[in-house]
Amino acid sequence: PMFDYQKKTSSSKEFMNEAAQVMPGGVTANIKYFEPYPIVMKYGKGAKLIDMDNQEYIDYLMSYGSLVTGHGHNEVKKAVIEQMERDGTWLFGTPHSLEVEMGKRLQQHFPSMELLRYTNSGTEATLLALRIAAAHTGKHKIAKFEGHYHGGYDQMLVSVSPPVHQAGDPESPESLPDSKGMSTSHLRNTIVLPFNDAKACKRILHEHKDEIGAVMIEPIQAGFIPADPSFLKGLRQVTEELGMVLIFDEVKTGYRTCLGGAQHIYDVKPDLTTLGKAIGGGYPIGVVGGKKEIMMHSSPVEGADVFDSSQTKSGTAKDVLFHSGTYNGHPMILAAGMAVIDILERELESTLRKTEQLKTGMNELLKKYKVKGQTVGTGSIFSVVLSNMKIRNYRDLQKTDLATRKELDFSLFRKGIYMKPVNRYSVSTAHTKEDIENTLDAFEKALQEVYGG
Ligand code: PMP
Repeated sequence: PMFDYQKKTSSSKEFMNEAAQVMPGGVTANIKYFEPYPIVMKYGKGAKLIDMDNQEYIDYLMSYGSLVTGHGHNEVKKAVIEQMERDGTWLFGTPHSLEVEMGKRLQQHFPSMELLRYTNSGTEATLLALRIAAAHTGKHKIAKFEGHYHGGYDQMLVSVSPPVHQAGDPESPESLPDSKGMSTSHLRNTIVLPFNDAKACKRILHEHKDEIGAVMIEPIQAGFIPADPSFLKGLRQVTEELGMVLIFDEVKTGYRTCLGGAQHIYDVKPDLTTLGKAIGGGYPIGVVGGKKEIMMHSSPVEGADVFDSSQTKSGTAKDVLFHSGTYNGHPMILAAGMAVIDILERELESTLRKTEQLKTGMNELLKKYKVKGQTVGTGSIFSVVLSNMKIRNYRDLQKTDLATRKELDFSLFRKGIYMKPVNRYSVSTAHTKEDIENTLDAFEKALQEVYGG
């Protein structure tokens, strides 16, 4: 199959050899790379991508879930162009109306975000959330969950994909770095918790109650492994008791389970929320929002939240939390973001139904070919997991047949289905019923090919 891949994607191979002369490994984000070399795309529209060898794919990577309305959606494109034409510029460097307009729409769907701030990426959002939490509690250690990703910086790039044999006791996971070049002195400030293990989490948080200021969690791990509802409610309770800021990182789950994210589905209210990906529909954005009293730490104005010169005074650097960014609240991106909300308010329900149809079809096929496997996920993201075991966390996932899953994905490439090998499926509003049917056909053929059915 590898030989076939190289034959069918020879232009990608050639391009990647050239790219490697310009960028380390030929890529500008390591996640874009996979063995033996990635497929290079040159055109995208709706649910489709076309590669350098002119092969067409139904795309389920959807740029890691950010393209919730698919490639090149006309309404999003129009909103961006109209915004530029209306306002003349595409960047003010001052406050402007879209910041508030978009903010109000986000608050409608995420009522927990009493105040919010924009950033340019999910990474920046989680980083800001941690600083706000530390400013609020005065405690500088943080807790995160094994297998959860929040960005590539030292504080958080800890035990995201640790080798299981080095990761320690499942009930007291080690804090392991996920990158070369990371300072090990950071590691002791990041406590790693086991996902979906309420008892162990409670014990660890109590052990560090005077140092941990914030607990960050993906309420649905990697967008597809759900927290048990009782686990999430328990975490809310223990963090409240111990004075820790609970941060839901909904960069993946925002707009994906419903417009109000996982917090709406679970009916659990975090102190802070981070958003990204789908919020910009493919344009770079991040959002941090939450309780007013916590978010106010990021205000440059002390004493009041209305502008009355007799009451307000600017803080000094020492007592104000730093948050800035040349591109924060970029008008083009906010215009795109509002168009995405418009589209999803109309079409999210049918996207969720199409996702269910795809998952049901895949599960039936797995059964038909007697493959130990299942789809795991809620909303418009899921993964195909080759195991019948209930998947509750990172370590469970490592016990599944990841090697065969990769083979399956390469077989799907040949049949015109694209995603990064062993990644999630993200369904967009652009996927049609026909796309779903064609995907199921390809999936059946891939199962036959891989399992010799
Ligand atoms: N948090 C989560 C849950 C994510 O999935 C990601 C991106 N995969 C990030 C944060 C970081 O977002 P970005 O890539 O936009 O910096």
